[in-house]
Amino acid sequence: MKDYTIIWKGNKHTNKSSRRGYIPTIIVDHITEGSANSAINWFTTPTNNVSSAHFLVSRDGQIYQFVKIEDNAWANGLKAKDISISKAEIVKEKEVNPNWYSVSIEHEGIYNKTKGALTEVQLEATIWLHQYIIDYIKKKWDVKIPVDRKHILGHYEIDPIKKPNCPGEKYPFEQILNRLNSKEVFNDIKGHWAEKYIMIVAQEQIMIGFPDGEFKPDKQITRAELAKVIAILLNE
Ligand SMILES: [Zn+2]
Repeated sequence: MKDYTIIWKGNKHTNKSSRRGYIPTIIVDHITEGSANSAINWFTTPTNNVSSAHFLVSRDGQIYQFVKIEDNAWANGLKAKDISISKAEIVKEKEVNPNWYSVSIEHEGIYNKTKGALTEVQLEATIWLHQYIIDYIKKKWDVKIPVDRKHILGHYEIDPIKKPNCPGEKYPFEQILNRLNSKEVFNDIKGHWAEKYIMIVAQEQIMIGFPDGEFKPDKQITRAELAKVIAILLNE
């Protein structure tokens, strides 16, 4: 899988605060409703005293960061009194402003045009970023964010009243979760040139791994195995 460089864009005007001791346990996905450049400007301008996000993924697949994962960003707040409007189970359970325990990712896009769908390179970048955040939190706090829809959610689930279209119904949650999960299935494909393709064929159940948790990407395929793959593709 391609390795990404995160470009730091936060400045002294970027809104942030301490997490007050809360450990991040959810990843919240958003849509910018504007260009990546306008989001970068907005998150770094002195006149913005209201919002920020940890990360931004542009439509050309570049990842930007504004707030450290250790710090709190103001991306998906809900006052304690409004928590009952949330559709997210975890938000109801925790009963505090969800910003304290979330890591937020903005995705460049305009709902009316994309309904939340990502470009191909944007999808690849955000899958990598989700994994990066999960690994970072595991290393820092020894907490593993489960790869499921309870812990990887959309802003609309936190605030269905004010943010019903963030990040939009075409945001590929299922694809992201499947890819993150299949990555954990095989322990010998990270960095392999075919990692992306292996995850796709595994996710589609066209080719699966071995019982020892390996995919053995460089092992030769037998004629019988190839026949099976072709039969699956033919829907036989
Ligand atoms: Zn949002």
